[in-house]
Amino acid sequence: MPWDKFANIEMAFTFGDVILLPGKTQVEPSEVDLSTRLGEIGLHVPILSSPMDTVTEAEMAIAVARMGALGVLHRNCTVEEQVNMAKAVKRAESFIIRDVVTVTPDDTVEAARAIMKEMNISGLPVVAEGRLVGIITRRDVYFAEDGNQVVKEVMTKDVITVSPDITPQEARKIMSRYKIEKLPVVDDSGRLVGLITAKDVFYRESHPFATRDEEGRLRVAAAISPFDLERAKTLEPYVDLLVTDVAHFHNENVMRAAKRITEEVNVPLVAGNIGTYEAAEEIITRLDVVGLRVGIASGSICTTGEVTGVAAPTLFAVAKASEAVAKYGSDVAVIADGGVRGPAEAAKAFAAGADAVMLGFALAGTKESPGSPLIVGGKMYKVYRGMGSPSARSKRFALDRYSKPSKDIAEGIEGLVPYRGDVATVIDKFVAGLKAAFGYVGAANIGEMKERARIALLSSVGAREIAPHDVKPMEKFSA
Ligand code: GDP
Ligand code: 5GP
Repeated sequence: MPWDKFANIEMAFTFGDVILLPGKTQVEPSEVDLSTRLGEIGLHVPILSSPMDTVTEAEMAIAVARMGALGVLHRNCTVEEQVNMAKAVKRAESFIIRDVVTVTPDDTVEAARAIMKEMNISGLPVVAEGRLVGIITRRDVYFAEDGNQVVKEVMTKDVITVSPDITPQEARKIMSRYKIEKLPVVDDSGRLVGLITAKDVFYRESHPFATRDEEGRLRVAAAISPFDLERAKTLEPYVDLLVTDVAHFHNENVMRAAKRITEEVNVPLVAGNIGTYEAAEEIITRLDVVGLRVGIASGSICTTGEVTGVAAPTLFAVAKASEAVAKYGSDVAVIADGGVRGPAEAAKAFAAGADAVMLGFALAGTKESPGSPLIVGGKMYKVYRGMGSPSARSKRFALDRYSKPSKDIAEGIEGLVPYRGDVATVIDKFVAGLKAAFGYVGAANIGEMKERARIALLSSVGAREIAPHDVKPMEKFSA
């Protein structure tokens, strides 16, 4: 009956509608543990960067993984371009480098010097027929009599090597003991299979919380269309996680296509976007996924709600999806996606049951997002656009999320966001804000936040009161 729809109307709460109430606490913000899990992938910082072409390419993915979060590479490009981004993340820093740059004993010293200069590295293992026979470093090159000498005349022959099962701690000890910066890795038969550099070992020690795979390389995720099995297969060797990128996952064709991906591609999958209990329930019971990407139409660049009248605001959608996860005792992670501008929205998302947040707007203005800053009226900005915006749709690879073949309307806008400097500082501030919120609630970790947080409704008058009011901020006078 039509009236029943009104009599039993749902409340689609948004971030701005509610606040978290303070609770008795024994938790100092500095003690809060924000770590989370997406299947086997552990994150120290529960943030994913959104797969948008003005947010996440290799540079962003590297920077956020170093901070303990995870980057999801966008797919508005060819599969080769997306694979290259993933490779760049994997190469950025690794404990054992696999694609070692080498020279042969008969190469000239000049050739070795040129390679070192071009690649910006300071030493090259010398290899003959796959076997390690020496190492030549910048110093050997520097002191060589002339560039026409050959490598075997100046290289170090008694090289200190290690086997592939070496740990980072052992590598560090050997490097300190012999005061060396390069450790070639050889197998039982003397074949060169890798290289460890002091730079990488020390970098690793100064970033213990970075998100890394078993080989010590940074982890990276990539967005795919659920219908693009080929792309998923091509990405399989290079990425740690795949994330479906469709506006409405709760669609029989999409569910079937995604099922095929989970069966044929050996990389964990996050499914989404979804906005209801029923969608979460169906995914949990039908598909083998590690996460749900939750929220429809809350994105800062999104016009879906305005254009179609359909939306599942992120806070509401997270609460609904979490309900299904709890009912089925599932360990699938709930990722709040859209409208998380800062730690306040993130804290509310965790209180409603999220395990991680996905950020577009909050990261789009940083140095590491694609594109250069623009100066408008003396202020710096970066371009940020919805993947369903007319300009993103005009790039044909945005196929099937909000693009022309499946839809005739734009569902996103393009705009400018203030430039905010490097992403490490932005994430540090975000984390500090989140930890403060956890402190107020009395939650030592995300699990406790879900359990303990009490949520209260706020009127629009109240929303004005809890933001700075009546006082004209100082910066307005300095302009
Ligand atoms: P330097 O001593 O400061 O010049 O630094 P290194 O020569 O040790 O290396 C600089 C960076 O380049 C390190 O972070 C390594 O990861 C990387 N690197 C060094 N050698 C190789 C190599 O053979 N292959 C690849 N792919 N990367 C390398
Ligand atoms: P933000 O963090 O900017 O509030 O939201 C980012 C999220 O908005 C993305 O992760 C994605 O789920 C969603 N999104 C990205 N582009 C579009 C678009 O053009 N239209 C809609 N409806 N949502 C978008």
